[in-house]
Amino acid sequence: MAVADRVHHPASLSVPLDHGKVRCTACARYCTVPDGSHGFCFVRKNEGGRLVLLTYGVASAIQVDPVEKKPLSHYRPGTRVYSIGTVGCNWRCQYCQNAEISQERELVGRALPPQQAVRQAVRLGCAGMTFTYNEPTIFAEYALDLMRGAHDAGLFTNFVTNGYMTPEAVAYLGPQLDAISIDFKGSGEPGFMRKFISAKGPEPIFETSAALRDRGVHVEITDLIVPQVGESDEATRKLARHVVDRLGPSTPFHLLRFHPDYHMRDLPVTPTATLERLHTIVKAEGLEYVYLGNVWGHPLEHTYCPACGAVAVERYGFTIRSWNLDPQNRCAGCGHAIPIVGRPPEDYVPAFARAV
Ligand code: SF4
Repeated sequence: MAVADRVHHPASLSVPLDHGKVRCTACARYCTVPDGSHGFCFVRKNEGGRLVLLTYGVASAIQVDPVEKKPLSHYRPGTRVYSIGTVGCNWRCQYCQNAEISQERELVGRALPPQQAVRQAVRLGCAGMTFTYNEPTIFAEYALDLMRGAHDAGLFTNFVTNGYMTPEAVAYLGPQLDAISIDFKGSGEPGFMRKFISAKGPEPIFETSAALRDRGVHVEITDLIVPQVGESDEATRKLARHVVDRLGPSTPFHLLRFHPDYHMRDLPVTPTATLERLHTIVKAEGLEYVYLGNVWGHPLEHTYCPACGAVAVERYGFTIRSWNLDPQNRCAGCGHAIPIVGRPPEDYVPAFARAV
């Protein structure tokens, strides 16, 4: 789609300032944008004293994924989600696996008006709609219209996000969000965030996750462990403590293996032993459901009953191998309630990612 054909959609998350400037209120950068300039994410632009979103209605990636890939392990398990990404990002992760879209400076993509996306999601048998691949906060106005349409069609909604939002964005998006996967990197250690992400620190992410949780949004936490430069026992312990205190001990917590990419191809994948060590630390802080991600076939992909230790849900990668819960999602062995929203569909068959 040519840039000239794009709808320059008004960016609701903004406030006017003096001298034709505007402040974007979508993410915690709070960019002040002079007339004719872009914000840090490049997709929000000041046109004549008015902030516009340049990627409204244009998707750069569309895929049907299993919900477990987001990762969401405790929300609508076994379902498929229609996944949408656009270009641009408010972070500069030096290891980004989607840099070809997140760091893209050309406004590339396919036209995807909200109603068309919803119709396609339903036709493809999806139970939910997910915003992922790049940071969805930067296209909040487009995401909001998509989520409204998704809800009208009976789909659930989900953000995969770095959580670097503002209270304004939480208030704007929160009423339409059902579930969120918030991605910490390097356990949110401020030095790591400054050096490898170009972000100041984790406080806005803490605020966002707690505020969304308070609104009743289902929250899962991920922590990408980057070997050598982003693997601090103390930082992971602090993050786990925060999650226990602010979100509760039953919040699912995923320790993710890093794969070398983009400007950080010289590092190895995260050793399994590192993830196992951090798993022990996180569990010791009181979190009940701690998973390893991107380590297919590892026993810590499963859900274990915190009361009796039995395998409640057995997984392999994004696939559910066995479901050992009663109809009320209580452990089949001891009856302990496992906080998972929904159950795999009756006709569940493992699904794999599929481009649309
Ligand atoms: S979304 Fe964030 S990075 Fe983009 S213009 Fe707004 S404040 Fe700046």
